Amino acid sequence: MQTKIYLDEESLPKTWYNIQADLPSPLDPPLHPGTGKPAGPEDFAPIFPMELIGQEMSQQRTIPIPEEVRDILRIWRPSPLIRAHRLEKFLKTPAKIYYKWEGVSPAGSHKPNTAVPQAYYNMKEGIERISTETGAGQWGSALAFATNLFDLECTVYMVSSSYYHKPYRKSMMQVWGAECIPSPSPRTASGRAILEKDPNTSGSLGIAISEAVEDAATHANTHYSLGSVLNHVCLHQTIMGLEAREQLAMEELYPDYVIGSVGGGSNFAGISFPFAGDILTGKKKDTEIIGVEPAACPTLTRGLYEYDYGDVAGLTPMLKMYTLGHDFIPPALHAGGLRYHGDSPIVSRLVHDGIITPRSYLQNEVFEAAITFARTEGMIIAPEAAHAVKGAIDVALECRKTGEEKTILFCNSGHGHFDMTAYDAYHTGGIIDYDCPDDLIKESLANLPKQRG
Ligand SMILES: *Cc1c(COP(=O)(O)O)cnc(C)c1O
Repeated sequence: MQTKIYLDEESLPKTWYNIQADLPSPLDPPLHPGTGKPAGPEDFAPIFPMELIGQEMSQQRTIPIPEEVRDILRIWRPSPLIRAHRLEKFLKTPAKIYYKWEGVSPAGSHKPNTAVPQAYYNMKEGIERISTETGAGQWGSALAFATNLFDLECTVYMVSSSYYHKPYRKSMMQVWGAECIPSPSPRTASGRAILEKDPNTSGSLGIAISEAVEDAATHANTHYSLGSVLNHVCLHQTIMGLEAREQLAMEELYPDYVIGSVGGGSNFAGISFPFAGDILTGKKKDTEIIGVEPAACPTLTRGLYEYDYGDVAGLTPMLKMYTLGHDFIPPALHAGGLRYHGDSPIVSRLVHDGIITPRSYLQNEVFEAAITFARTEGMIIAPEAAHAVKGAIDVALECRKTGEEKTILFCNSGHGHFDMTAYDAYHTGGIIDYDCPDDLIKESLANLPKQRG
């Protein structure tokens, strides 16, 4: 029985898939935070390179991956597709479970798939430094890895709760030559404002974004970079789904279910968009595409589909997306990468249109799934990725009931070697099942920007 399905390096995709070309109508445009009018390329030019702005708005179905980018991706790509035989056996399911394993990248997650092209396009435009935010530290370390290869400086604002709980991610960034600062910080006006109100705040991704954007907007040699949410990020991540579709085809299979965890939506977009595109273009119709989020930050399952800011300070353009409100601060969740208040506008649109089904799970059941996975398949995975595993296990158990031999594909977005504090908390009973109270969501949704939506 085949366990690992490898593509050779020659088969590394030469183009990304842009699902915008196949949407039945264009996305609602981003709106300028000051005027409320549609934001154009010139509004983004101070913080992003023109190539990425072009990709953000492109309606072209395929976009070439530059050779210099493919050269670096080849260090670990194409990534393996792995059949979870032992998990199947343990679950006594007739379903076939396959996972795309992204823990093989240098930073240990899917995030370098976009960090590399983003650093590349900034370098091409003559930019010298990139600023960004990071939650659990995964994105900061991916960007530190990528900027180093293109001789760019990198400043990372790291959500302070993670900065102190995950010191090794910070160390990785330093190894790759980046500067890592706990956020909120005194370095920016938005950081100082938050610290004045609450000096002991544990920070949030929204706050860190405000700081990183402000840093880029106030320095001419500096651009900003985002590791999720935006269309160009989802575009770069489609390399995973494109590879997986080919790998499954080598087994003469096509997935009945495609599953991923959703923070800002990038790994989920990456694994699922090629298959969602097959639905939109009428090539396939029965694939169920499931996005899994934590019950503590239930953006897709309990948020509103409205225009909102990407950050707490309201400095970013407003995006039409599912949101819990830009000043929503989730509880200290162990899947730090899933704490964001909003979601990718494209993923949001596909949820709204019924192409994608969202689900949410509590923390303990997610960790239980991660332990089951480690004890059957061996890999100790990131708590974020464990949400996808939990989704896959549930679908496989449904198949056991119905006796159907379905094919399940999920994105195993990263390893958990720097998340052992969270595993430790699980073993000592320290993980809280936090189902977000309605009041908390209502409160932050009341502060949505007053916009025609
Ligand atoms: C950041 C991260 C996520 C969540 O981010 P998305 O943009 O939603 O993919 C999931 N898994 C891992 C391992 C991550 O590092």
